[in-house]
Amino acid sequence: MSETDFRRTLVTAALPYANGQIHLGHLAGAYLPADFYVRYLRLRGWPVLFICGTDEYGVPITLTAEKLGISPKELVDRNHQSIEDSFAGLGIEFDNFSQTSREVHRETAAAFFRDLHAHDRLVQKTTQQFYSPSQQRFLADRYIEGTCPKCQSEGARGDQCENCGSSLDPTELIDPHDALKGEPLELRETTHWYIPLGEWQERLEAFIASHPEWKENVKQYCRSWFNDGLGDRAVTRDIAWGVPVPLDDHEGKVLYVWFDAPVGYISATREWAIDQEDPEAWRVWWQDETTRLIHFIGKDNVVFHTLMFPAMLMAHSEPFVLPDNVPANEFLNLEGQKLSTSRGFAVWLPDYLERFEPDPLRYVIARGLPETRDMNFTWEGFQARNDNELGNNFGNLINRVFTFVHKYFDGLVPEWTEDQLEDIDHAVLAEVAELRERWASHMDRFEVKAAMECAFAAGQAGNRYFDESAPFRTRKTDMVRCGVSLAVALQVLRQVCLMLAPICPFGMTRLWSWLGMETPLFFGGWEEGLRDIEAGRPLGQPEILYPRLEPELIEAEVARLRELLEPGDG
Ligand SMILES: [Zn+2]
Repeated sequence: MSETDFRRTLVTAALPYANGQIHLGHLAGAYLPADFYVRYLRLRGWPVLFICGTDEYGVPITLTAEKLGISPKELVDRNHQSIEDSFAGLGIEFDNFSQTSREVHRETAAAFFRDLHAHDRLVQKTTQQFYSPSQQRFLADRYIEGTCPKCQSEGARGDQCENCGSSLDPTELIDPHDALKGEPLELRETTHWYIPLGEWQERLEAFIASHPEWKENVKQYCRSWFNDGLGDRAVTRDIAWGVPVPLDDHEGKVLYVWFDAPVGYISATREWAIDQEDPEAWRVWWQDETTRLIHFIGKDNVVFHTLMFPAMLMAHSEPFVLPDNVPANEFLNLEGQKLSTSRGFAVWLPDYLERFEPDPLRYVIARGLPETRDMNFTWEGFQARNDNELGNNFGNLINRVFTFVHKYFDGLVPEWTEDQLEDIDHAVLAEVAELRERWASHMDRFEVKAAMECAFAAGQAGNRYFDESAPFRTRKTDMVRCGVSLAVALQVLRQVCLMLAPICPFGMTRLWSWLGMETPLFFGGWEEGLRDIEAGRPLGQPEILYPRLEPELIEAEVARLRELLEPGDG
């Protein structure tokens, strides 16, 4: 173990946009991989801070609020609460889950902008943009509609024509109008601040090149943006719902969401520090060069976390740490189809939690994470993994061992000594120790799927050992030998518990207490879990952790999704 493994780690998960609920795609892309990693660090007892919050500004929020007849702030507060509840229900435990509409964020984002402005890191430009006279506001590109100049099809958006795929500038559209209200628009001059990303390209390329260990897909995205060349990017815009630009004569202008949202990680850390009654404590996590910063995101967020936010951090006059890794994931498909939030074709977290336990979903997603390519979630696969793996492999091992110890050894770890161990005992202990080491090195490298192969194999090794050492036979012929093999099986169970803990924290916390462990599992439980098991330690009375799922439950889920795909027949 190198000393870098003990460095403090700041983990962020992409800020969910407070315009709706969390679904399986979000979970597989960012939130579960982040929680798996954070729980792994907590299990090892290494210092970690886990930061997230809702991203609450921008046009879509104002449109939804308008539709519902409430204020944007009411909408985001409501959604923030339900997103926070969903995460808690699934066992995703942030150290702070903030909101970008809070005062601490307005202050932090405004100060960030002021620093860049004061040090001449921003440039001002005047451009022509479409303005709605009836609404007295400028419209964002994708809310402008017109006829495509390339293929003449109607209904092309200001940023892209969906018919021919051309990317467009809104001024190219023929007969441009408001996409939502159909009203005519006029071009007006407006002045904005831009960050000249081109000036940072060389340093960004060197920064990315200094991380050959990053995932291939992430480096690939960066290379293609570098090839296109980075240009100026607006950091302010003309809408009402956002962090006001902190300069005189900028009424009606706010920070662009892409600029203020990542600063949300910093303000959420500041808010955490204030809650700790140590307001400057955020600095060590962001400004001490020995801190590792890890951003968990889906692939649609790569450019913001590998290029734009790092450029902002480089441009700031104070020293900030740059991300040590950005383990972005590909997309999760559902029953072979792309998820679609507009059609509601997704599995929404609040619905899932109403009907199922959290651990099976965490487990099934861990087994099928889209780490290097898109993956597919099916309800049939969910049931199979729950029944065959959580139930028949892990649950079975737990049951058999505990049942025997309670029945024949009064629920105490049986007597055993080192010199009583036979070849078969040494063999399983060595096999599981080796799997545990491999598991840990995969977890260090964000390779959860490979780590789970090791955990699964450890469960299988435990079951095989139980069959072969056969305490059900030796209890009739050799009670001492029977006890030794149960002690060995319990030792295996401890290792399995460690390996499954970050993925299935609910069940493993219970197993940990049944095993009579003293250290809190996610507060450095690792070390106690590796120690030799002490004879005579009392064990708890276990229950079935992972029952089989009724086929009707699964069929109902499949039917729900089918209805969404065939709205005409529903
Ligand atoms: Zn077109």
